[in-house]
Amino acid sequence: MGIAEQLRAVQDKVQTAAATRAAALKSAEAPVRLVAVSKTKPVEDLKEAYDAGHRHFGENYVQEIVDKSPQLPADVQWHFIGHLQGNKVGMLVKGCPGLACLETIDSEKLARAVDKAWKAQYPDRRLRVMVQVNSSGEESKNGVEPSEVAELCKVIAKECEGLELGGLMTIGAPDYSGCRTEDFESLMKCREEAAAAIGCGVESLELSMGMSADYENAIREGSTSVRVGSSIFGARHYPPK
Ligand SMILES: *Cc1c(COP(=O)(O)O)cnc(C)c1O
Repeated sequence: MGIAEQLRAVQDKVQTAAATRAAALKSAEAPVRLVAVSKTKPVEDLKEAYDAGHRHFGENYVQEIVDKSPQLPADVQWHFIGHLQGNKVGMLVKGCPGLACLETIDSEKLARAVDKAWKAQYPDRRLRVMVQVNSSGEESKNGVEPSEVAELCKVIAKECEGLELGGLMTIGAPDYSGCRTEDFESLMKCREEAAAAIGCGVESLELSMGMSADYENAIREGSTSVRVGSSIFGARHYPPK
């Protein structure tokens, strides 16, 4: 199957899972965003998905997103989903004008650095960001401890004028088994605490959770944005070091 067909198949599954969720809640179907994770994939692959109508793309590496973004049309909505080092903030902000969401804010220091760089570059529009939560508690995972999420969200919402708090993001447990109810419950709880700390409605904060192995399950659990790579673009091949 080509990329366009695989994309369509994933879109269909996203839709079905969203309908299942809505039926279980007896509510109207809420839209779920599909972010096509294109890290390591050539620009031609992204163009194929673009030509099939897709606009949201996710990348993990600053150099790669900065290389790719000028090669695609300006209406691409780029999501940065990798770990962001403080010394790369300027490069990302300047080099990717179509940055629609930075999903991996994991410290107050990083939030303030991104805020400052964004305001200097784009004084008239805010950058949507998400706080990355280490919901599975593994030491190796990036992300904020659940107990510290609300405070960081408050700093972003109240003190970072260049940023708009979009919600929370998590990668979740390491086994990718498709059964991560605990991560999801942790994320939901963080969202409640964050909404209370800021004084906003829970629904105004999005949840970014779910990858190729588990996005349908994540949507049924309430995820509003899924990040799917290999199911759309095929397995990734990393060049030998
Ligand atoms: C690579 C990556 C994905 C996509 O993973 P697949 O298993 O290929 O769908 C999603 N989220 C993050 C943070 C990633 O690094």
